[in-house]
Amino acid sequence: MPTTSRLFVVLFGAQGSGKGTQARLLQDRYGIPQIATGDLFRHNLKNKTELGQLAQSYMDRGELVPDDVTNAMVKARLERDDTARGAIFDGYPRNTAQARALSEILAEQGGEVGRAIYIDVSHDALMDRLTGRRVCRNCQATYHMIFNPPQSAGVCDRCGGPLYQRDDDKDTDAIDRRLQLYFDETLPVIDWYRSEGLLAEVDGDQEIARVQTEIVEKLS
Ligand code: ADP
Ligand code: AMP
Repeated sequence: MPTTSRLFVVLFGAQGSGKGTQARLLQDRYGIPQIATGDLFRHNLKNKTELGQLAQSYMDRGELVPDDVTNAMVKARLERDDTARGAIFDGYPRNTAQARALSEILAEQGGEVGRAIYIDVSHDALMDRLTGRRVCRNCQATYHMIFNPPQSAGVCDRCGGPLYQRDDDKDTDAIDRRLQLYFDETLPVIDWYRSEGLLAEVDGDQEIARVQTEIVEKLS
């Protein structure tokens, strides 16, 4: 892993592989922020911004928001002071054009991706994970009705906010489209990071704490 005081980590994996769950744990452990492009789009949607309105139709259909819009949003996010020591990317980059854009954006700031972690989860587990997922409306922490339930039903352990089910997790056709897109467009990016010598793989079919331990081992 390149030795730099800034730690930029990319988390890869299909929708439902546990990127968000793991990114939040890493954020607490390393004190660097999670940058989840899906969360940023949903935040814009909730606040009815122009960006949110543009993104909505793509998100509803389970398609990718255009690269120029997504890359500009990430660039703006990286200009915030809290990324001075690095960041954990979750759900970005999702295709090779975004991977190239991320390298350019980081290079402009004197940074680089230090490690790409691929959380490998069997296809059969993904649908169950996605349909049982619940998210805090307030802080975006992620739970699962069966595999990772909150202490009190419908309430976030972290902040007490209300939990909800994402619209795109209610629609099994949209889930299928998102997974297909992942296999078509995102898997090639993993090969690219592998060829750059930056990829580490972890077995995501284990309990959450065990996956976290494996990721931390790969980052040390
Ligand atoms: P992603 O960000 O990759 O789409 P999430 O972190 O939102 O995935 O996880 C998807 C769902 O699976 C959530 O409901 C989460 O609580 C659950 N989950 C995450 N990791 C595991 C795991 N290792 N075992 C079982 N369920 C998990
Ligand atoms: P996620 O929360 O990662 O599952 O993303 C939810 C939705 O946001 C996706 O289905 C896309 O429509 C959009 N999205 C998130 N990240 C990206 C990205 N890197 N590029 C394009 N669209 C994205």
